[in-house]
Amino acid sequence: MSNYEQTLSIIKPDAVERNLSEEIKNEFKKNGFKIKEEKKVHLEKSEAEKFYLVHQSKPFYNDLCDYLSSGPIIVMVLEKENAVIANRELMGATNPSEARDGTLRKKYGISIDKNSVHGSDSTDNARIEIDFFFKK
Ligand code: UDP
Ligand code: MG
Repeated sequence: MSNYEQTLSIIKPDAVERNLSEEIKNEFKKNGFKIKEEKKVHLEKSEAEKFYLVHQSKPFYNDLCDYLSSGPIIVMVLEKENAVIANRELMGATNPSEARDGTLRKKYGISIDKNSVHGSDSTDNARIEIDFFFKK
């Protein structure tokens, strides 16, 4: 059964700053994702706080929101069969030191906070996150 779907991907400030955006976009394309929408934005801290609201009770929330709003990011809508899980697999573990070889976080991530990419963790959150950035 076909399950073609969308997910939200973000190339985080550490990767944009190191000029890795084109290389990371090529990784998505090579792995069969279509980039349906794409834009470069620099979030206000209040917008980062809204995006990461699910993490508001975590000890790392404030630093996380400072970080996401620290520089330009590339936000993309990716499409593929089972895109949500496929993107999570391509990204690898949250902590780059635990991510498998070949994953984006293993290749490009610097640390658990500067881990280069974000990807939606469920189809429900994918819809919410896509609307957050692209709702017309
Ligand atoms: N994060 C962090 N410290 C932690 C856990 C997470 O700085 O101890 C950051 C990390 O950059 C991660 C983001 O918070 O990507 C969101 O955390 P989540 O658990 O949702 O990980 P993800 O879904 O990004 O793998
Ligand atoms: Mg998450």
